[in-house]
Amino acid sequence: MTNKTYAKVFRFRGGELCLDFANTIQWPRSKRIEMLETPGRLAEWAGLAGIAQTETAGLTERDVTRAVQLRDEVITFFTFLHGGQPIPDSLLTAFTSSINAARSRQHLRQHSSGFEWQSNTGGTLDMILDRVALSMAHVITGDQLACVKACAMCDWLFLDTSRNHSRRWCSMDSCGVHVKMRSYNERRRG
Ligand SMILES: [Zn+2]
Repeated sequence: MTNKTYAKVFRFRGGELCLDFANTIQWPRSKRIEMLETPGRLAEWAGLAGIAQTETAGLTERDVTRAVQLRDEVITFFTFLHGGQPIPDSLLTAFTSSINAARSRQHLRQHSSGFEWQSNTGGTLDMILDRVALSMAHVITGDQLACVKACAMCDWLFLDTSRNHSRRWCSMDSCGVHVKMRSYNERRRG
């Protein structure tokens, strides 16, 4: 495993914003490597995700703590789900609260070709939390919940939209190639 594989680069392979947010931790060999270490890093993620302009983020350490809390709730939810365990009531309550807060800040706006929901918030943290919470609401209650998988190589979450739902890796180009190379080398060694 090269260091490059675990460079703390934000990637967006989840297929849903809440999954991309969950993938801001790396799990090399069951170790937990935090990628949202500072307000600057959270702002960077928000910028790359198209949520906020990084230079105007104005985030604090406390904001990072709150964002990481929501992020870890998303991860815990799928850990329970994939383990076949019921989701704890406390976790459902936490999501209800985050989703309700996000919805309370939304308002309908008309534009030339129709209507859209816009978020009525001035703060970058709320913008991040709201987008993640609404994405989570969409995934949890939608018919693609069963398509959320953990990558067989790196444990990142992704939405398997392949036709026969047989995808095992967050990215064929990185994790998939790595697994195939490893099994090829094992076969060669016999
Ligand atoms: Zn992966």
